[in-house]
Amino acid sequence: MSNVELDQLREQLDEVNLQLLELINKRAELVQQIGKVKNTQGINRFDPVRERKMLDLIAKSNEGPFETSTLQHIFKEIFKAGLELQEDDHRKALLVSRKRKPEDTIVNVKGENVGDGQQRLIVGPCAVESYEQVAKVAEAAKKQGLKLLRGGAYKPRTSPYDFQGLGEEGLKILKRVADEYDLAVISEIVTPGDLEKAAQYIDVIQIGARNMQNFELLKAAGSLNKPILLKRGLAATIEEFINAAEYIVAQGNDQVMLCERGIRTYERATRNTLDISAVPILKQETHLPVFVDVTHSTGRRDLLLPTAKAAFAIGADGVMTEVHPDPAVALSDSAQQMNIDQFNHFVKELKDSGLYKDIKNPSTV
Ligand code: PEP
Ligand code: MN
Repeated sequence: MSNVELDQLREQLDEVNLQLLELINKRAELVQQIGKVKNTQGINRFDPVRERKMLDLIAKSNEGPFETSTLQHIFKEIFKAGLELQEDDHRKALLVSRKRKPEDTIVNVKGENVGDGQQRLIVGPCAVESYEQVAKVAEAAKKQGLKLLRGGAYKPRTSPYDFQGLGEEGLKILKRVADEYDLAVISEIVTPGDLEKAAQYIDVIQIGARNMQNFELLKAAGSLNKPILLKRGLAATIEEFINAAEYIVAQGNDQVMLCERGIRTYERATRNTLDISAVPILKQETHLPVFVDVTHSTGRRDLLLPTAKAAFAIGADGVMTEVHPDPAVALSDSAQQMNIDQFNHFVKELKDSGLYKDIKNPSTV
């Protein structure tokens, strides 16, 4: 074949491509018109019976050289694109997305405007064990000018034989400490039926990693008038995490904070692998405040400070870490909780690093 012939064939191919382009767009216009009609009639956009008829017609009319299955695959893609075109932007952009709401969501936690640029620490024991234990941490947190205290009352433990938490008794302790020290308390709730009761005692409902895709719990949390701290699932993608938050917001509760807490990988040097890049991705893609839990992601006391610095440097709205008056006797997570001295040192180091934007309590150094 001469070069001239090849050029001519290529010209024809270009011509056909342009015809296809025109036809595909013409089809898209028709699909849009059909979408409008269906909208006014309230009919579902996806119509499998109609799609089957179109595919059958294509099969019947196919004279090759393409196999019918190949053509059906191509046409299926065209149908799918048409369906997406029918869906208005309203349905496509998630409520939690920046596309939908460009400005940052501020979550009001007992007067603290989380997400306002001030970076915050959430500290407290892994599990509530006694009033004295929580009060000691609260006192230390208060001295550091902190406002957000955590403590687990319902503990989702790997083993059913491990300490499961004090339940409602634990929530009562948190409430008493919060009142006495004027702090806001955060605690995990694992059952939809416990939410209403818990809301009377605590300021933020935490939904833990193991429950990130407990959709009934998410929906129930969405119908509450209470801030929610949603943690990323142990093996959840960022997309799944964002959709879990959408479940809450879709029910009307937009007071949602996200928390990256490490994901399960093949790495054994840390308890989980802290996905630090999730922070800027979540900040870009959603308008919700983003926290980093340095305790559960690393599972190592020696890594709490460096990972907290990384979290603040990368733009997290806050860091969560566990503090216990005597970690050696803690009923859970004893290996990674800080004692009060270690906690004070941790805060000082963070402030001295210049990475922690603590506008309200500037470092005295
Ligand atoms: C916790 O914060 O107490 C906890 C159990 O964390 P996670 O759900 O992230 O494991
Ligand atoms: Mn813990």
